[in-house]
Amino acid sequence: MTAPVFRRILLKLSGEALMGAGSHGIDPDVLERSAQDVRALIEAGVQVALVIGGGNIFRGAALSLRGMDRVTGDQMGMLATVMNALAMQDALERLGVSVRVMSAIKINQICEDYIRRRAMRHLDKGRVVIFAAGTGNPFFTTDSAASLRAIEVGADLLIKATKVDGIYSADPMVNPNATFYPRISYDQALRESLQVMDTTAIVLCRDHGMPLRVMNINEAGALLRLVRGEDIGSLVVSGN
Ligand code: UDP
Repeated sequence: MTAPVFRRILLKLSGEALMGAGSHGIDPDVLERSAQDVRALIEAGVQVALVIGGGNIFRGAALSLRGMDRVTGDQMGMLATVMNALAMQDALERLGVSVRVMSAIKINQICEDYIRRRAMRHLDKGRVVIFAAGTGNPFFTTDSAASLRAIEVGADLLIKATKVDGIYSADPMVNPNATFYPRISYDQALRESLQVMDTTAIVLCRDHGMPLRVMNINEAGALLRLVRGEDIGSLVVSGN
């Protein structure tokens, strides 16, 4: 078997990725499948950090459209990411994987506080670390939290798992003629407003040289092949 080419990766899963075919919440089968994919990475010898979104439960922007105070809505969104993190922790533990949830907001009767050095120590020991509660601040997203944490803990690669195969010139679900981009620059992604990650997340990656891979979470075995060096999905790197 080929050895992994990455020592440490950060995988960003959206809350919607856990929802499966449902309209909200967590699909237990999808959760278990995602946990199995993560276990395969650990077994391959890769250190794995996770950021999971909360969009399957609450999003502050959507709540504020219905009249709620935006900061309160974002706080609910951050708490939603903690629920998803606990669900993933449980699914991984049932598969025999050692896990720590670290929250950006203090709820340390439920999980650890985020402390960078401790997170890195957990990763060195082969534990999966799930970064919960986003950045801990309203008006941010878990995409930005993923970029931030990937840079902070010195990940070799940030992987954004999506429902499509990578980055396209337009949404391939809507426009079947959309062009697939196997490799683009951060600036092109920003210039063309491609649906990769939000602007703050891409700018953080660009300014700190964090390579970003966008790939399909539903392709069986793809994550493992990726960490073994296969060119899967789209890669965002420096350039014009
Ligand atoms: N959120 C926040 N600050 C952060 C990260 C998340 O306020 O640093 C809130 C925000 O309301 C967001 C919600 O948590 O809409 C859920 O996160 P996100 O929308 O990124 O989840 P995803 O789309 O990945 O499921």
